[in-house]
Amino acid sequence: MRYIIFDLEATCWQDVRDYNRMETIEIGAVELLEASAPHSREFSSFIRPVAEPLLSDFCKELTSIRQSDVDKAEYFGSVFYEFIDWIGSPPFILCSWGGYDMTQFKIDCSRHKVEFPERFEAHINLKKQFGNNFNAKKCGMKRALSIAGLTIEGTHHRGIDDARNIAKLANILLPVMETSGQIPEVPTTE
Ligand code: AMP
Ligand code: MG
Repeated sequence: MRYIIFDLEATCWQDVRDYNRMETIEIGAVELLEASAPHSREFSSFIRPVAEPLLSDFCKELTSIRQSDVDKAEYFGSVFYEFIDWIGSPPFILCSWGGYDMTQFKIDCSRHKVEFPERFEAHINLKKQFGNNFNAKKCGMKRALSIAGLTIEGTHHRGIDDARNIAKLANILLPVMETSGQIPEVPTTE
């Protein structure tokens, strides 16, 4: 199976976790051609937010994404279609750390009148899987890497770096899921 590990960054404010107010500003993703293989291709793109175009100081500090990065980026619709193109033909399964990224994708698709592809629905929540395997419920990615004895690389809260780090955890979790028959059924055609 081919796995797409992705991570979104979004507009944010201190003490606010309102997904309808937040808006995607980066899609980072890597591809695993096999569950235990090191990642092959990478996707990394900033997105220009429309609802609240000015990034808060909190957001710039958290993500290290600069106002100029998003100001010169394309809007969500274009980048989302580029992402779909980059993924290529089924079969594949999207994986992310927790449920947030899928929720934000759906909110932004609806905000930007972009259809959310049905083949994206078979999603693996690696955080949940990590909780089951390591008995560490609701564990952040950084903590999970440390529990698994892996080092965090790059800048935490940058989509592409988070995706690379999550892929290392996926290399441990996905093979277990494959051997225990826990990989969801996915469409094999568009
Ligand atoms: P992450 O993938 O952990 O970098 O988080 C994805 C997005 O969630 C970030 O780009 C922020 O929009 C939001 N976020 C993460 N951590 C926080 C936090 N401590 N406070 C507010 N928003 C956050
Ligand atoms: Mg992230």
